[in-house]
Amino acid sequence: MIEIRNLNKWYGKNHVLQNLNLEVKKGEFFGLLGPNGAGKTTLIKILTGQTDGEGFVRVMGIDPLKFPLKVREVVGIVPEMESVPNYLTVEEYLYFVAKIRGLDEDAVKKALIDFNLKGERSKVCRDLSKGTKQRLMLAAAMIHKPPLLFLDEPFINLDPLYQRAFSTMLRNYVSEGNTIFMATHILELAKKICDRVGIIKDGRIVKVIENLENLEEEFLREFDYA
Ligand code: ADP
Repeated sequence: MIEIRNLNKWYGKNHVLQNLNLEVKKGEFFGLLGPNGAGKTTLIKILTGQTDGEGFVRVMGIDPLKFPLKVREVVGIVPEMESVPNYLTVEEYLYFVAKIRGLDEDAVKKALIDFNLKGERSKVCRDLSKGTKQRLMLAAAMIHKPPLLFLDEPFINLDPLYQRAFSTMLRNYVSEGNTIFMATHILELAKKICDRVGIIKDGRIVKVIENLENLEEEFLREFDYA
């Protein structure tokens, strides 16, 4: 689903991604784990055609460096900062996204139920709590049931109850054959929910871990805390 070879990214003189290599298979829940500033968001931005870079990149067979819009047509993206339009209601926003994706009102109704947004459907986004905004972002990103979903720190504003429900939903999503690529810096979360984890440090994937039993130790060792 994702293939990256020798990917480099500079922001001015800052060499943010350094000869990065990575593969993500179909049907896996892949976690990108690393401290703040390691390059997680930058990598997701490149994979989803939101910024440029240098190297070989394929996302579902498409080169996002050359065809950014094509990639965005097929994948789902939940960016780190919630950015729902303040002036629309929850329902209007979902209709808007459904229309762009060529879906009918059934998709909106289903999203309102699945993401527990029915009670807030008529509120304008400006008046939503942080957690509800995030749920709305997730609903919008998943409304077209993308086979590949990118999540950047998706749990940050969710309360523990909804975190749990959302984890289950994502696991079910993967068990239906979809693929998830999630950036996080929360170790316990990655351990609980992911199939494989890549550790990113200073813009490089320094380790890919398949058996997550000792994830904390392996992660801390990479950063000389163990
Ligand atoms: P993470 O998501 O792991 O916290 P980021 O990808 O956001 O890391 O950032 C990686 C590095 O790139 C950091 O040093 C950050 O300051 C820098 N960076 C990120 N976005 C920009 C930008 N738009 N312009 C300049 N530097 C940036």
